[in-house]
Amino acid sequence: MAKEDLECSFCGRKKAETNLLIAGLDAHICDRCIEQAHGIVVEEALHSTNTELTKEMMLKKPKAIKEFLDEYIIGQEYTKKVMSVAVYNHYKRLLQPNTDDDIEIQKSNIVIVGQTGTGKTLMAKTVARMLNVPLAIVDATVLTEAGYVGEDVESILTRLLQAADYNVEKAQNGIVFIDEIDKIARKSDNPSITRDVSGEGVQQALLKLLEGTTVNVPPKGGRKHPDQKFIEVNTENILFIAGGAFDGIERHISKRLNMQAVGFSASKSEDTRDGDNLLKYIIPKDLKDFGLIPEIIGRLPVLTYMNPLDKGTLRAILTEPKNAIIKQYKKLFEMDEIDFVITEEALDFIVSQAIVYKLGARGLRSLCEAVLTDAMFELPSTEDKKLQVTREYAEDKLSKSTIKKLKAVS
Ligand code: ADP
Repeated sequence: MAKEDLECSFCGRKKAETNLLIAGLDAHICDRCIEQAHGIVVEEALHSTNTELTKEMMLKKPKAIKEFLDEYIIGQEYTKKVMSVAVYNHYKRLLQPNTDDDIEIQKSNIVIVGQTGTGKTLMAKTVARMLNVPLAIVDATVLTEAGYVGEDVESILTRLLQAADYNVEKAQNGIVFIDEIDKIARKSDNPSITRDVSGEGVQQALLKLLEGTTVNVPPKGGRKHPDQKFIEVNTENILFIAGGAFDGIERHISKRLNMQAVGFSASKSEDTRDGDNLLKYIIPKDLKDFGLIPEIIGRLPVLTYMNPLDKGTLRAILTEPKNAIIKQYKKLFEMDEIDFVITEEALDFIVSQAIVYKLGARGLRSLCEAVLTDAMFELPSTEDKKLQVTREYAEDKLSKSTIKKLKAVS
């Protein structure tokens, strides 16, 4: 066929009548049809029903979900496995056909117990990234501060709506990560002798969201816009992931495990029982003993824990995840055509400092920043196209002012 005889296989326009005609295997498409098709794709995505969304998600089996998590999260094998199954079951539940067998699959809301900085938020973020669903990260401590509990709890959904660009359908399939859930625990085990009702009040308010309800959500949040219209959001299909450090919960665990939990013997026995993380023995009852109300625990049926980050994990976090910190710096330097190399010894040194100052994984970033700021400031204006960071270089940079600041933080 002569070139001028070519036509769009969709609308039939001749090549001359189009601005652009793109060739496929056995067909052609013109610019107008591409635009129209794109419009349809966008429209469909915006108005896709639950089923369409979830079908896409269902394509990933638990093993594939875990493989995705592996790319971003170092270690924490148990939690990655538990999360993979929980997420899979969650979306299976959304797809369940309406049968008459009265078996209703319960929601797989998750609670993750682990020290701060061990990757709980990262876990939620990575799941949301994989599923391509909106994610709202909220802090449970904020909820305790306000008197008007109901309004505050709704603000969680405002965040989710914002993350979903106000697409209600998408928000209703999204994920909410509630951080520091342990901070709204009842302070005493015995409700009758405590006046600490605020934590319990927030737990009660949260309960409704967790179990699935329709909420009128102020789209811009809070009381700032009193005359705004409310948006109705159903929380039935929202996956809730709660995280908390639950400081001191080891005492409840070890008590339950019939170990002496007093004084020096506590830390000793914690060390001796199968590794160093007592959290791996956690059961829902421990959360109850810590001060979560049984109803909340019931609505967070998947319970898992994070391991503390040891030297090897911290070292791996620096270089191995898909968007590892060192990879990010490499990319930044590359944009100035600077070849950035850091030696093994320098990396080990940074890790050792993170441990010395108890900075955890979050500290790795500030330590790298302290080591590299001078270079990032100076090199772009010089002809120097290579930066090699050795242990001595790192030590030198850290020994200056910044290290003192880090010390103060810890
Ligand atoms: P948490 O929510 O438990 O306090 P975060 O998820 O906020 O902890 O983790 C803090 C930072 O530490 C994250 O941004 C991430 O870069 C890093 N991090 C923590 N744990 C891991 C891990 N297991 N794998 C990779 N990065 C991690």
